[in-house]
Amino acid sequence: MRFDYYQPKDLQDAVTFLEREGAGAQALAGGTDLMPRIKDRLTSPKFVVNVKALEQLQGMGADGGGFRIGALTTIRTLETSPLVRRRFPALAQAAGVLGSVQIRNIATVGGNLCHGVPSAETAAPLLALDARANIAGPHGNRSVPLDQFFLGPRRTVLQPGELLKELVLPPLPERSGSAYIKLGHRQAMDLAIVGVAAFVALDSQGRCSECRIGLGAVAPTPARAKQAEKLLKGEKLTEAAISQAAEIGMGECQPIDDLRASRVYRCEMVKVLTARALNQALAMAQGEKG
Ligand SMILES: Cc1cc2nc3c(=O)[nH]c(=O)nc-3n(C[C@H](O)[C@H](O)[C@H](O)COP(=O)(O)OP(=O)(O)OC[C@H]3O[C@@H](n4cnc5c(N)ncnc54)[C@H](O)[C@@H]3O)c2cc1C
Repeated sequence: MRFDYYQPKDLQDAVTFLEREGAGAQALAGGTDLMPRIKDRLTSPKFVVNVKALEQLQGMGADGGGFRIGALTTIRTLETSPLVRRRFPALAQAAGVLGSVQIRNIATVGGNLCHGVPSAETAAPLLALDARANIAGPHGNRSVPLDQFFLGPRRTVLQPGELLKELVLPPLPERSGSAYIKLGHRQAMDLAIVGVAAFVALDSQGRCSECRIGLGAVAPTPARAKQAEKLLKGEKLTEAAISQAAEIGMGECQPIDDLRASRVYRCEMVKVLTARALNQALAMAQGEKG
């Protein structure tokens, strides 16, 4: 459990140090994932690199027509921000069901994504909202769509020395809505058994012009249900169309059996929650009409 602590003086110093130390160094944001893992001896870094003071990873706000969320933004900020609640309800809803208030006050969105677990609460809504991940590294910056960020359980595209700097959400179409639904065993402090986020935009005829569905905890990584999305694009979102898409979404997941739920149950819940999340997102998109 012994490790040294490194306080970088700026972003370049942080990424240079992280690259030099490789697997021996780990970034510390809120520490709500990293510190318990160190205590439980699941990981034993030689250096813990505190990134909390890095300015480029902080803040949140309009970015061109889109919206920028610094990697150090706390989950509690996402939960309580009036702007996030109004414009990106799926993200605020997911933030509001992550752990407890104490955890949410220090946990960050960057830590949640870089932690890389399939149940990462903010991943499904950010996938549905079509986020890009902007990454800073020792040799420059790069940007990847979030649906290419996750490679496997606890594995992301981040290379030694790279830090997730920020998420950028594209401009919101006028008539759009989003929703996130988590199924867990208890009200608080429980990882999702299934998490589903949906985003829907409507054209002037009331047809679906954009649809994205993010799934959490039902595959080796958080993922999109792209076949289900395809079915709805260009269509009227009738009850029948939504049910059919939910059925297809169920076929796109690959959950595991574990102590918390069976594979069959998880699949069934993907169907139920996908329909529910799509209906909630649709209601919001229609509500904006008048
Ligand atoms: C009691 C409890 C309940 C929890 N409940 C939930 C829950 O319901 N849902 C859920 O999704 N999670 C839950 N978690 C897990 C955890 O709180 C979240 O994943 C949290 O968002 C992690 O953020 P953090 O800032 O604390 O990450 P940290 O612990 O600081 O870091 C996590 C990992 O990401 C890396 N990292 C952090 N920031 C960056 C960055 N900017 N660039 C590159 N790498 C980075 C770190 O090196 C580390 O490997 C829970 C944890 C606890 C202890």
